[in-house]
Amino acid sequence: MKFVDEISILVSSGKGGPGAISFLRASMTPRGGPDGGDGGRGGHLVFRVNPQLNTLLNYRFKKRFAADNGTPGGGRNMTGPDGQDLVLQVPPGTLVRAEDGTVLLDLKEPGDAVFLKGGRGGKGNWFFRTSTNQAPEKAQPGEQGEERSIHLELKLIADVGVIGYPNAGKSTFISRISAARPKIADYPFTTLTPNLGVVRFDQDRSMVVADIPGLVPGASEGVGLGTQFLRHIERTSCFIHLVDASEASGRDALQDFRDIQNELRAYDRTKDPDPDYVPLTNRRQIVAFNKIDAVARDRVEELQARIKQEDGVDARAISAVTGQGVSELIYEAGRIVFEQRSED
Ligand code: GDP
Ligand code: MG
Repeated sequence: MKFVDEISILVSSGKGGPGAISFLRASMTPRGGPDGGDGGRGGHLVFRVNPQLNTLLNYRFKKRFAADNGTPGGGRNMTGPDGQDLVLQVPPGTLVRAEDGTVLLDLKEPGDAVFLKGGRGGKGNWFFRTSTNQAPEKAQPGEQGEERSIHLELKLIADVGVIGYPNAGKSTFISRISAARPKIADYPFTTLTPNLGVVRFDQDRSMVVADIPGLVPGASEGVGLGTQFLRHIERTSCFIHLVDASEASGRDALQDFRDIQNELRAYDRTKDPDPDYVPLTNRRQIVAFNKIDAVARDRVEELQARIKQEDGVDARAISAVTGQGVSELIYEAGRIVFEQRSED
């Protein structure tokens, strides 16, 4: 079972600058010796593994990435400056594949890998002077850069798990916050797929939020899809626990909340002898009453007061449909995720 982000882009390194054909101009000599300099190298196309990243979101909206060309050589034997390298930052675990699927790079460890070399700069005519040809009229063009269509592929790890009773609004919430929906590959269940969203936190950082639909009463004993989904949330930094505040379901909102908490506890017990297991009940949890657009404000405040008093929980109030309270909730989740990522 895996979540995979896949993206196709076109990348190229820079062309080398051409060499110059130039002759020294001095007042005494109408035509002096050759002094055409070499062209600069084209920029390399480089991949840099950045452990702070964990999605390919930055490659979803732009498709072409080209390093700069080298500058032409000049007179007075001036070498043109090299083109700037283009550095593409990717998360650890990114695979670079050719169009036919061959793996070209497996980017695991932090650091740089030159993927496409910039073209060499051409030699200027100064280079071609010989004892028999003191005034060569010849210079080289710059070498072409390389261009390739590639696929980037990354197995995603969910940072945030969205839990809650069926119909609490988990799927609605994910579609509201997502900047992108990666393809979910190899998923054995077609009737109930986990919903996955990539959420932009700020300019550079994004996180993966996964809907965990399988967490229902009895899941730890195999009811519904049981532990299949729960395995996903074992690695999340935190949970967003949505609770349906509307009375439309006919259920008690606090009871829904407690049923899910009990299920987390029951799942932890099934893992008891495993020393590497981090209990789900120890995970940071942000609790939010959802559907406040459909509920009287007094009712929401009463629920918040009760859950505080009876369960010791500070619960937020949101509407996944109108978006009220959602960005504040995402901000809190992002702070937890990035705090943990920088500790790893
Ligand atoms: P899930 O089972 O937790 O994934 O819940 P869904 O996202 O499928 O939502 C269940 C139902 O609640 C759907 O009919 C949604 O349209 C509705 N719903 C979800 N969020 C809200 C909300 O903020 N306000 C209102 N009024 N309805 C909502
Ligand atoms: Mg759903």
